[in-house]
Amino acid sequence: MGKLFVVSAPSGAGKTTLCRRVLEAVPDLRYSVSYTTRPPRPGEEHGRDYFFVSREVFQGMIDRGEFLEWAEVFGRYYGTGRGWVESQLEQGLDVLVDIDIAGARQIRERMPEAAFIFVIPPTFRELVRRLETRHTETDEQVRIRLARARDEFAALDMYDYLVVNDDLERATADLECLFRSERLRLERQRGFRRRFFEDAD
Ligand code: 5GP
Repeated sequence: MGKLFVVSAPSGAGKTTLCRRVLEAVPDLRYSVSYTTRPPRPGEEHGRDYFFVSREVFQGMIDRGEFLEWAEVFGRYYGTGRGWVESQLEQGLDVLVDIDIAGARQIRERMPEAAFIFVIPPTFRELVRRLETRHTETDEQVRIRLARARDEFAALDMYDYLVVNDDLERATADLECLFRSERLRLERQRGFRRRFFEDAD
């Protein structure tokens, strides 16, 4: 079985860039593309960044139990497709999901063996700076995101790992380290013993 890695972060923590870099660096790590009812931002692609669906389609998926978890974030629905994630894990592949705290809480209940990682900038002040300088939100949206970040921080104890994103190189290396150490577990290397003695006599 592969392992599920849940990554959450306040909006503006740099999680998207970080996850992208880690996915390039770690072989056989799969990214779960979420479903959302929010419209695509410029440059986003259906099937790569998200599956952009209508509320009706999303509701149908909820009714049929097709989500591993789902949540409403900033007035839009977001969810992780259950079937795809489970089939990757069954094939022995590790899966990364980038989801909010409410979603992480649902996964913690259903799959306590998953790893839970929280990514955060070094200070609240830096979070404010990053949100204000990326200019993708209105002042009101920035205010809402900062209020939400405070709430998210209060839920930190639910996570297993904390990655401070003060320097992108270091944070990438830290995150990579978590994925690599999982692969060093004995149970993930069961075939090694057989291969070791293969040409012994
Ligand atoms: P954005 O709209 O900026 O891409 O994402 C907004 C928030 O939704 C982020 O905190 C992101 O982690 C979260 N999110 C993205 N996909 C999912 C998902 O499938 N489930 C849940 N619960 N949250 C998600």
